[in-house]
Amino acid sequence: SMAADYTGRFAPSPSGPLHAGSLVAALASYLDARVHGGRWLLRIEDIDETRTVPGAADAIVAALAALDMRSDGPVLVQSQRKHRYQAARDRLGALAYPCGCSRKEIADSRVGTASDGAAIYPGTCRHGLAPGKVARTLRMQVPDAGSEGELVCFDDRWLGPRSQHLAAEAGDFVLQRADGFWAYQLAVVVDDADQGVTDIVRGADLLDSTARQIYLQRQLGYATPRYLHVPLLTNAAGEKFSKQNGAQALDLSQPLEELRRAAHFLGIDAGAARDREAFWTLSLAAWDARFGAG
Ligand code: GLU
Repeated sequence: SMAADYTGRFAPSPSGPLHAGSLVAALASYLDARVHGGRWLLRIEDIDETRTVPGAADAIVAALAALDMRSDGPVLVQSQRKHRYQAARDRLGALAYPCGCSRKEIADSRVGTASDGAAIYPGTCRHGLAPGKVARTLRMQVPDAGSEGELVCFDDRWLGPRSQHLAAEAGDFVLQRADGFWAYQLAVVVDDADQGVTDIVRGADLLDSTARQIYLQRQLGYATPRYLHVPLLTNAAGEKFSKQNGAQALDLSQPLEELRRAAHFLGIDAGAARDREAFWTLSLAAWDARFGAG
């Protein structure tokens, strides 16, 4: 059954405390795991060590526990898993190639703009470092436009059918950055496979990354999980509600209020819940009605 096979996860970056935006993703992933009788795992995504705030990972885990959400297994920490990313890189063989182009050179080439706003890589170093260049990054080759596997399709459980043309909308993307850190796209795919994740429930800001991640899963021989992208909480200016634009930490002296607010954003009216037990009963029933196995 789906239940026995279900493993979900929440994967925060420790660049600050848990905030209202990340709580929405945490709650959605937790509810989905529980209504499917599955496991819910935590992962600390500190792969970009330049953004890590000391103490933030422990504070996030503690905040989630104060809101009744605890990992059903060991908490994976990306900065301790570099050997796994290197092993995956080795398995990709020549599809992962050294690139010596600077950001400016890529922008100046004007091949096109990816759906995330970045310039599409023109392919300069695809078949060997261009003359006079020194390797800066590692890049993943995507299939040429119109060729097999270039159009990636998936069925999002919230948004419905989605697709992306990798060549036109993403281009050859970075696997290892110029500062030596592995890129999120590679780390997340390796970690989800190593944790046996069957179901990814996360914010819609990551929707655009999904096709690249599915493509990497295919090249690495991993199964592709199911996806559900929840709407993104935005601030009054319509910007992503995040640590980067000064989102406040949650008020953990009011756990029920914080949980109710996050649930409300997900379309769950838990206003009648007088305590946390009632909150969970009500929210699980509401989520089950919409996204349960039926
Ligand atoms: N670490 C990412 C974030 O905090 C989430 C990645 C994911 O869920 O795939 O935005």
